[in-house]
Amino acid sequence: MVLVAIDGPAGSGKSTVASELAARLGLKRLDTGAMYRAVTLLALRAGTDLRAAPELERLARQMTLELDGVKVWLDGEDVSLAIRSAEVDAAVSIVASCPAVRSELVRRQRHWAELQGGGVVEGRDIGSVVFPRADLKIYLTADTEERARRRADQFRSLPDPSSLARRDALDSSRPASPLVVPEGAVLVDSTGRSVEDVVEEVLKYL
Ligand code: C5P
Repeated sequence: MVLVAIDGPAGSGKSTVASELAARLGLKRLDTGAMYRAVTLLALRAGTDLRAAPELERLARQMTLELDGVKVWLDGEDVSLAIRSAEVDAAVSIVASCPAVRSELVRRQRHWAELQGGGVVEGRDIGSVVFPRADLKIYLTADTEERARRRADQFRSLPDPSSLARRDALDSSRPASPLVVPEGAVLVDSTGRSVEDVVEEVLKYL
């Protein structure tokens, strides 16, 4: 069983690197950001107060969520695009700061890894909280301009460093499992580098 944890801020290249790395290692990939986005989508659709912890916890516990590495299915609906909307982008860090939501999603993440017998798991707290004993912990970074540009390319919009910076600030300053460089993690800077180049470097640490 091999478990690789990849953490880092938005736009650092986690998803592409995690996908490519998983393919190279013959492992499955889990995008935990998509899970927080799914709860956020449910809350927005239900008109839930984003600070109402018991209500958010109920949504997180009751949802059926399936991630196959490409698509995301929420209660049977393909929400792969809906969870990437600007509305979800703006609200997700607030929902993700709720400890009850986090503990339910962490429980599901651990269960996923147990069923798969390992995998490549990406997020913000994977090496620090979810799998502190992962075989390899990577903290992926890239400079702010490049991260904003990548994010914009992904959404076919104009770069908006302010919204990215706001989400990073919320994710790094929250009391519950903030984004940190996990103990024992290898720092990898993806600025100006191809996915292949970054993946080759990561493979060397395994
Ligand atoms: O990775 P992505 O940018 O899609 O994550 C969306 C949001 O989900 C992050 O900004 C963060 O607030 C939250 N998140 C988290 N913990 C994780 C993964 C994502 O808090 N493990």
